[in-house]
Order: sequence, then C-alpha cells, then structure tokens
Amino acid sequence: MAKRDYYEVLGVEKSASADEIKRAYRRLAIKYHPDKNPGDKEAEAKFKECAEAYEVLSDAEKRKQYDQFGHEGLRGSSMHDFSRMNVEDIFSMFGFEDFFGGMFGGAGGRRRGGRRAGPTRGYDLETGVELTLNEIAQGAEKTIEFTRQDRCSDCEGSGAARGSQPSRCTVCGGSGQVAKGGGFFQMVSTCPQCHGSGQVITRPCPKCKGSGHVPRKRTVTIKIPPGVHEGQGIRVAGEGEPGQGGGPHGDLYCYVRIKAHEFLERDGNNLIAVVPISMTQAALGATIDVPSLDGTKQLKIPPGTQYGSLFRIRGQGLPDMRSGRKGDQLVQVTVETPARLNARQEELLREFAQTENVDVSPKSQGFFDKLKRHFGNHG
Ligand SMILES: [Zn+2]
Ligand SMILES: [Zn+2]
Repeated sequence: MAKRDYYEVLGVEKSASADEIKRAYRRLAIKYHPDKNPGDKEAEAKFKECAEAYEVLSDAEKRKQYDQFGHEGLRGSSMHDFSRMNVEDIFSMFGFEDFFGGMFGGAGGRRRGGRRAGPTRGYDLETGVELTLNEIAQGAEKTIEFTRQDRCSDCEGSGAARGSQPSRCTVCGGSGQVAKGGGFFQMVSTCPQCHGSGQVITRPCPKCKGSGHVPRKRTVTIKIPPGVHEGQGIRVAGEGEPGQGGGPHGDLYCYVRIKAHEFLERDGNNLIAVVPISMTQAALGATIDVPSLDGTKQLKIPPGTQYGSLFRIRGQGLPDMRSGRKGDQLVQVTVETPARLNARQEELLREFAQTENVDVSPKSQGFFDKLKRHFGNHG
C-alpha cells in the first residue's frame, strides 16, 4: 500500500509549526491509543502511522528531506519500523511518559520506571464552535459553554470523606508500583490496587464518590482570528481539567466548524458563488447582481459568455490567517434556457435560428404526423 502524506496523516498544513505538529500528533495519538481502542487493529495501525509521521515531521532535518523529496527523501535516514514496535516503546521513544500526563490509567503519568509521582498537568479538553463565513471574514468573539471536571470542594480533591484520610495502599506499600517476576529480570508496573497513587480511599467523599473531582459548567469567551479554517483548533490555555497533585490545568481546544452559507462556498481563501443568467444575458452581455459577504455586488458579464464561465471579483474573499491578504470571490455563471416562450418571443427566436443555419424543431406537431404517414407506421 502506498504511504500517505505525513502532513495529511497528522491533519496539519505544510507550513505547520513544530508546536502545531506536536499538538496534532498528541491529539491523534490519544484518539487512536490502543488503551482507548482495545482490540481495534485499525486504530493501532493508525496510531503507528501517526507515530511515523511524527518522527519525520518533528525532526527538522528529516522534515526538510521529506518536504523536498517526499518519502523517497527519507531512504537511508534512520527511521523506526513502528509496525514492529509495541505501544509502550513508541511512547518512551518520544518522551511521552510525561507528554501524556495521567491520560491512560495510572496516576501521575508514571507508566513505568521508578519515578515518584509528582504534580502532573490535567487533561486537555476539546469542544467545537460554529462560525458563519462573515464571522470568519471579520474574526469573532464567541462565548462557549462546556463541562469540565474540577477539583471537588468538599474533599479538596483527595476523594476521602471529611474527617477521614486516604490510607497507604497495602498492595504496594505506598510506592504505587509492584514488581513482577523474580530473579534477575524484574518487571515493575503500576500497582493495580491504587493505580499508582500509593493511597487508597477507605471512606469516599459522598459528593464526588471518591474521584476527587466533580463536573462543572464553565463559560469562556474566546477570540477567533479572521481567516480561520474548518477543523482548526483554538487553544484556550488552562481551561482543561485540573492536574493531579496540584499540577496545572490542561488546555481547552476549540475546533472550528463552518456554517453553510446560502450562496457562497469556501475554497481556501476564495469564495465561490454560482449565479444563473439568462440566455440573452449570456449572448448580449449584462451587468448582474451577485451575492457576496456584504450584500450584493455588481458584475459585468461580457457578450458571448459561455455556460460555466468563471469571473473573479478581486479582494472579496476571506483574509489569509497569516498575511491578512484577502482572497477573491469567484462567480461561476450557469445559463438558463427559457422554459416557456410567448408567441412573440418564439417568433423572434425562430427568425434568429434561420440566420444561424441550424436545424430546429418545426413549429407544429403536425409535422411528425405527416412524417409518420409518409414513411408508414411500422411500430
Ligand atoms: Zn470529594
Ligand atoms: Zn498500591
């Protein structure tokens, strides 16, 4: 199977910054992580495909090679064969033990190794916001409501009922880890009893049922820059879920969706409108009204315009996110043939047809009857 484009795999633009690439990878790695998709071979394959894309695009030298020569450019440079690697190894390879925080079971992001659980950053959250093309043209301020987990105020996040204390885990003795196997090769893994926290709650807090957090509605106002694209995420720092052990909140990513416009369609920074004109307008030329972002605009159509012709109104598109330079509005015309003619119109068109020297249907249906009689009806 042919390899997919790495930028496509991570869903980022060719111009994406190192940070954007990291975020995109992180998001997809979470989405396709085998812990989240147990037994799903396709998710695992996607997870590994993302890792491969990230290995290349996160490395300035490899990225340069890839940008210039595509997959061919990477021949001979050191690449991992992710299809043969297990997920844990892929994680540690990119230093993701910390990167993923406490995302997948096990408190404190301690997936393995002997480190003590320190404060860890909270989960990131995702939400969506819908924007009209006008809002995209101008940029917008949007108020967003979402629910996140916040520290339970009754137990201050400990999960233990008031007046009680979490007690030391008897399985691991408070270390959060247990050793398996014996002799020379000992495998250390997260304690199944306390999930790595080293503590167990004997009397859970009634308000949060021992989890230490409660869902809370939040309202934030976010500024959306002009020119934003479908699917792009706006990061709101610190609006994710609370960290563990006093760690900072994660971030909120607000993903943009574009609301359909009645007349206009987006194509990059350009806007496209399809406008019907009459047969005579097409033939003789005309000035027509076309819908644009701010009301209707006038457009001159030259004589002899063909069906499907494309016209450009410069600077009436959407601003580029980086440069602010505006795209154009494109107008595609369709030519409508009159469905019904009055007597005078028909007369004129017949006269016109005679000058064209082409065959047109005769006026009277009687012609066909005559034709049939002449050749006999064999049907
Ligand atoms: Zn509580
Ligand atoms: Zn334990």
